Amino acid sequence: MPRYRDIEYHLRQSKRKTMSIYIEPDGSVSVLAPESLSMEEIEKVIEGKRYWIYSKLTEWQELNRSRIEREFVSGQGFPYLGRSYQLKIVDDQDVPLKLYQGYFCLRKSNLPRAEEAFINFYREKGVKKIPGRVEHYREMMGVKPREIRVMDLKTRWASCSESGALNFHWKCMMAPLTVIDYIVVHELSHLYYPHHTHEFWNLVDKILPDYLERKKWLRENGAGLEL
Ligand SMILES: [Zn+2]
Repeated sequence: MPRYRDIEYHLRQSKRKTMSIYIEPDGSVSVLAPESLSMEEIEKVIEGKRYWIYSKLTEWQELNRSRIEREFVSGQGFPYLGRSYQLKIVDDQDVPLKLYQGYFCLRKSNLPRAEEAFINFYREKGVKKIPGRVEHYREMMGVKPREIRVMDLKTRWASCSESGALNFHWKCMMAPLTVIDYIVVHELSHLYYPHHTHEFWNLVDKILPDYLERKKWLRENGAGLEL
């Protein structure tokens, strides 16, 4: 990997005309450059953006401080509705995974597919829980989403399609209910205002006057809500 001063980066060159620098979701630095640029010219651009890169890397570290490497072993904590429950491997039970007496109980035979069992658990809980929260707020706000789905949205918590369908990441079920409500109100507000404009935030604020606190919780703890 090329390095400039203390910045290691991935370099990709193509027929593009301008150079861009990105911080990837894993915290690495990527430089996209035109084929015509020499290493010297590339480094000159990096030098010009050096302090911007440092500040972005610091920001990435802050946001990822809550990231936890979880393993599917007894005693490991997994979040559900903002609380952590320890995993317990059990010999046999009726379903692959369930919350029982304060533990996440995983059937031993499902251990090789533990991640799948957790995703199914969160998705099923989301399908049961989220529509009720949407219903509660959509009445207050006078809107009606066309459809509510719980799925894997990769890097987003939720999304609102042009046709008026609301999609929620199954990971939302790891967050406290107050934070899920914020995500719900955020998406419902997009049915009025597609972009994060002043009007959009005014509407969120009208429904949830303490939304900034909930938003902050998500920003600070969101990276820890991973399997
Ligand atoms: Zn939004």
